[in-house]
Amino acid sequence: MLDRIAQLEEEALHEIKAAQDMEALKELRVRYLGKKGALTALLRRMGELDPEQRPAAGRKANNLRKKIEELLGCKEEELREAAAAARLEEERIDVTLPGAPFKLGRKHPLTLVLEEITAIFTGLGFQVARGPEIESEYYNFEALNLPADHPARDMQDSFYFTPQILLRTHTSPVQVRTMELTAPRLPVRIIAPGKVYRRDDDATHSPMFHQVEGLAVDRGVTFADLKGTLLLFAREMFGPEQRIRLRPSFFPFTEPSAEVDIACIICGGEGCRTCGHSGWLEILGCGMVHPRVLEVSGYDPEDVTGFAFGMGVERIAMLKYGIDDIRLLFSNDLRFLRQFR
Ligand SMILES: [Zn+2]
Repeated sequence: MLDRIAQLEEEALHEIKAAQDMEALKELRVRYLGKKGALTALLRRMGELDPEQRPAAGRKANNLRKKIEELLGCKEEELREAAAAARLEEERIDVTLPGAPFKLGRKHPLTLVLEEITAIFTGLGFQVARGPEIESEYYNFEALNLPADHPARDMQDSFYFTPQILLRTHTSPVQVRTMELTAPRLPVRIIAPGKVYRRDDDATHSPMFHQVEGLAVDRGVTFADLKGTLLLFAREMFGPEQRIRLRPSFFPFTEPSAEVDIACIICGGEGCRTCGHSGWLEILGCGMVHPRVLEVSGYDPEDVTGFAFGMGVERIAMLKYGIDDIRLLFSNDLRFLRQFR
């Protein structure tokens, strides 16, 4: 019996030492200490011994059980540490590897043009003003001298919430809103960039587009000031040799009014398909602020004069970058957008 215990001890020590993983350890525990294990079987056979031999054998067997349990515990700890070390080795970060490149976005062509327009006019002393996109019929039409039968008021041409509330069709309401706040102080020099809305949708029209409104009010402001300001703008935006041409036009809120053309940037004025062989491209509308608009906004038209202009940002961007379809600006195609910086 004692020999058998010694033999078991040697076997167990050897096998536990050799165990490679947790699975093997678990198996060994069952094999030696389990209900049908070798040590358990040995203990059951204690009864076969002489009574005087039993205590010594029992002690030895119990000591062996303790020893095996201790060894299993130690080995388990050892295997666990080895596994953790291996995992650390596997997951170690190699700081010398090149990093994953971070994809940088860039500004939308409309943002670029809007920033450029803003920079040109703030450089001339204009301040940026803003107004609501959901506008009242009063500010969008009435205060701008747009009579009730003006075609722009047609329900078919605008987005109405109620007969009195609509999405603004131009940035011109900001003229009136600004003057109401500043009157009677002088001078007023603002640009008002922002979104406007009309029921148009084709290659050259979008139901939402951007305008920049300009307004200057002071004593003695003349049409020459307007033309000089716009010529400077055209040269800053399209090149120092740029020429402009003013054509008489009509807007209810300016008198007199004009459309402004720049010499065609494709052909330089020779005439081509882009400019319809005229040599000129229309870029904005302008005029002297109508006396009635000054009056409803709190200024005395006998005392002050002003000029105003409004340009489409999409139009300027399309001309500047040679874009032939306005919808490209809103389709979020990265192949298109990546071309601008
Ligand atoms: Zn041309």
